[in-house]
Amino acid sequence: MRVADLPLAAEYVDHFEGEGIESLYPPQVAAVEAGVCAGDNVVAAVPTASGKTFVAELAFLTADGPGLYVCPLRALAREKYEEFDRLPGVEAGISTGDYDSAASDLAGNDVIVATSEKVDSAIRNGAEWVDDLACVVVDEVHLLGSPGRGPTLEVTLATLRRRAPDVQIVALSATVDNPEDIAAWLDAELVESTWRPVDLRVGVHAEGTVRFDDGTDLSVPVDAADPARDADTEVTAELVAGAVDDGGQALAFVASRREAESLADRLAEEGFDRDGDDGDERTDVAAGDGATVAEGLRDAGATGTGQRLTEVAARGVAFHHAGLSSDHRALVERAFRERKLAVICATPTLAAGVNVPARRVVVRDQRRYTGEGTEWLPVLEVHQMCGRAGRPHLDPYGEAVLVADDADGRAELWERYVTADPERVESKLRDPAALRTHTLALVATGIAGSQAGVLDALAGTFYASRTSNPNLGGVVGDAVASLIDDGLLAATEGPDGGIEATPVGEQVSRQYVTPDTGVRIVDGLRTVAGMASDDVTELTAFEIVCDTPDMDDTYLGNAERAEIYQFARSRSAELTTGMVDADDFEGWLESVKTARILTEWVDGASVEELVDAYRIGPGDLESRIERAEWLLGAADALADVVGVELPAIGSARSKL
Ligand code: ADP
Repeated sequence: MRVADLPLAAEYVDHFEGEGIESLYPPQVAAVEAGVCAGDNVVAAVPTASGKTFVAELAFLTADGPGLYVCPLRALAREKYEEFDRLPGVEAGISTGDYDSAASDLAGNDVIVATSEKVDSAIRNGAEWVDDLACVVVDEVHLLGSPGRGPTLEVTLATLRRRAPDVQIVALSATVDNPEDIAAWLDAELVESTWRPVDLRVGVHAEGTVRFDDGTDLSVPVDAADPARDADTEVTAELVAGAVDDGGQALAFVASRREAESLADRLAEEGFDRDGDDGDERTDVAAGDGATVAEGLRDAGATGTGQRLTEVAARGVAFHHAGLSSDHRALVERAFRERKLAVICATPTLAAGVNVPARRVVVRDQRRYTGEGTEWLPVLEVHQMCGRAGRPHLDPYGEAVLVADDADGRAELWERYVTADPERVESKLRDPAALRTHTLALVATGIAGSQAGVLDALAGTFYASRTSNPNLGGVVGDAVASLIDDGLLAATEGPDGGIEATPVGEQVSRQYVTPDTGVRIVDGLRTVAGMASDDVTELTAFEIVCDTPDMDDTYLGNAERAEIYQFARSRSAELTTGMVDADDFEGWLESVKTARILTEWVDGASVEELVDAYRIGPGDLESRIERAEWLLGAADALADVVGVELPAIGSARSKL
């Protein structure tokens, strides 16, 4: 099927042909046959790089009105926004931040790109543009199964479909075990395919040989004579070197930030800022590029992490994890896409992020640390890492290698990841915290005015549609009761069992904080009302918002614990929680650490100083500052509702 045969205006056909898309990939043909250009609902469960963006564009360009593209990550949202905005005559808009607005400025765009949280919060704040949508494309819809975000995604989609019953839904998913359930929920035609534009072979290394699933072997000569070296790391280095010498690029996945950095150091010893020799200059990483990348990185920040990154980049190597500043992360991703870096050592988060395809993917670690020990990575996650192998138009094939310790390890990894199907996508809506959040939102926005109304609104969720006996009545009843207890909902007058949001409940919903965070902030504000005004400082404001479930936890090492404890003692008059009152003392002490970092930040400390003093990554500092801004905004709005004056909130927020 050719692009020219599609029901598209000539200017779009020209545009796509100009991007190298002339005839459709098989999964795209299947999506067209399933009705994506005819306004029908379609679920496409297909591998990475099989051209999902084009399917989304087809839906938007043939829809009879504005489209919404929902995606999980902000970095991805930006990438897609830029792509849609390039379509001739198409006005695209993007919204990812500002949880307390209806984003009304987005009305009037042909395509709106937003995260599911942003769409949810815009609905809570009265966005009317959602009623005009003709088409909604949901990317990474398998995230329905993720504990934090899944419930938001399914409730938001259910609400969108109630408000615009004729809206076309196109959902794009990684290959999962039960895409038919997602399709049945969305009344959609299912397109399922394992086709990839570049062949992929997956294998496991043990004892000097990689055995691939296509029956081929690859021998990996490792000099294991040095017992001080970790054997899996040496194998990884050899596999990376092999790919680079062949003119390819490599991604190496490891379990933690520290591992990513130390593997990068090890690889930098080899030095990958060099010419590959497959004779195809389009694919080569050229010698000398690393130095340019290093220069760009140096200009973008001089923290210890930044310096380490700069040093390895000069050798053609980078590391990538959530502790990096967002500028550094973006620079590394771009340099890799432009083939100016030979290898990235990454934590698993990169697998679900932006587009960074490589010739060879090495999954050195298949377990990750939890609070208590380690656990196997989900199959879906490992498949997503492997799926990064094979650069369309550049590589003849992609290779993914899992590194095992020995023959037994190979058998285990083979069964666990190579031949195994990915997990099923299961709803997480039944989680009490999720139900509290969404029950409050449904009532506060007026979608529901009673417990029965909440159940009715939830009837359109993935959970309710795919569970034979959803029986949500009990859990929703508990959610309503607890929200009434917390003063966020109240029974209405009259005998009909009606409920409404209290002014505090309404503001909690609008500010997009969880009910637990709202309650903590209100408690804090009430404590402040009884404190001497000299004691109420910016630290007070920060302590309140940092001690909420919506703020990231900050790790508190043993060595720091005593110091933070001393700090909390010496400043106890300014804190809203007494040293003996905290229910979860360790958790509270961590919040005090975050509050202290933020206080020093607004007092003028530099990123370098804070990163050094508190042993956090620049990316961690960034995300805490961003969250603090949002939570202080919520605290400010709630202070108005409960009638407490706390000027420190405004002053802290303005300095962030
Ligand atoms: P994903 O499925 O991971 O979202 P993309 O939509 O980003 O993949 O597509 C991957 C690459 O393939 C892009 O560079 C895109 O331009 C290219 N592509 C998509 N469809 C076609 C096609 N039919 N012919 C040629 N190239 C295509």
